[in-house]
Amino acid sequence: MSFIHFNVPPYIGTEFKYMKKAVENHKICGDGVFTKKCDIWMERRFNAEKVLLTTSGSAALDMSALLCDLKPGDEVILPSYTFSSTANAFVLAGARLVFVDIRPDTMNIDETKIEEAITDKTRVICVVHYAGVACEMDTIMSIAHKYNLLVVEDAAQAIMSMYKGRYLGTIGDFGCYSFHETKNFSMGEGGAIVINNSVYINKAEILREKGTNRSQFYRGEVAKYNWVDFGDSYLPSELNAAYLWAQLEKADEINNNRLETWNIYYEAFRPLMIEQKIELPVIPETCVHNAHMFYIKCRDYCTRQAYIQYMKEKNVLCVFHYVPLHSAPAGVKFGRFNGTDEYTTSISDRLVRLPMYYGISAEERQYIINNTLNFFNGI
Ligand SMILES: *Cc1c(COP(=O)(O)O)cnc(C)c1O
Repeated sequence: MSFIHFNVPPYIGTEFKYMKKAVENHKICGDGVFTKKCDIWMERRFNAEKVLLTTSGSAALDMSALLCDLKPGDEVILPSYTFSSTANAFVLAGARLVFVDIRPDTMNIDETKIEEAITDKTRVICVVHYAGVACEMDTIMSIAHKYNLLVVEDAAQAIMSMYKGRYLGTIGDFGCYSFHETKNFSMGEGGAIVINNSVYINKAEILREKGTNRSQFYRGEVAKYNWVDFGDSYLPSELNAAYLWAQLEKADEINNNRLETWNIYYEAFRPLMIEQKIELPVIPETCVHNAHMFYIKCRDYCTRQAYIQYMKEKNVLCVFHYVPLHSAPAGVKFGRFNGTDEYTTSISDRLVRLPMYYGISAEERQYIINNTLNFFNGI
């Protein structure tokens, strides 16, 4: 078997056609027809108030954090088990980070430990829907209402996933998607911010357009455009948006293909779970997921490392995931862990991700399954 990558960026086949069209339109900067198509598609599909394409998922998080209008010393509650971008956004906006432990089943923030982390400085709860599986949003939103906090959803991995019939990214005040090449839909580098609280729409457009009201000007709402507030440039190129549009047109096909792989893995590994050799992902009944990731939890760190090595020798790349942020140098500098770290470190040490991408072949899938079964049946 030739080398099996952990990820292959999604490619549908119409990407070049649309990118060529963008070139022929003589419009390759941001907010042209393809950007608009993507924004409107997401607004309709996800029943979202406002969606704006951004240059990355990180940029969508940065925008969200700036829109929260934080002051130095304000605190943001977030899980430690996440990507650096979730934390960076709030550090750049001047806030202190308060990390909370995760649930051992979904690897998402433990909603029962949020309230005890709240102080009179807390302003925001930032949740991460790990592996495209929903956090317990009803509880989180009710805590936010009780303490008058804003909620940012890092839904970078969670496009198309749902919680109690609502799309992830559309439940908090802001939602952030990523279209990095490792995500379900891609444009190379890119993302989107979902603005669910209409109070922030105008401000978000200005922030994204270098502090100008150019978006209003293009809609004919103002006679000329001006520099009206602070801002930055978060518009992706039309070339990237055209690539993404090809994928959004086939969103269900991509999603179903990934789910098929996910379900085949799950069924194949179920016996290992029953024999308590590994743990498999848990999808709560409230959640419809998007097969962003397939992970298994090994018995311990050594077993995981041995499995990764075993698969590497079989030409398959399996990878571990986040090193908890609170123990990273920047995490120590910018934040604190509230309560005890019961699961964040211990489970991240045991977790490993298997190859998962649109278009993985049945042969490759079976090869991965056979080798995984061989490894765990042999220990
Ligand atoms: C991918 C990812 C990001 C960052 O997205 P980029 O588009 O790469 O900037 C942020 N948070 C999480 C949880 C992610 O998985």
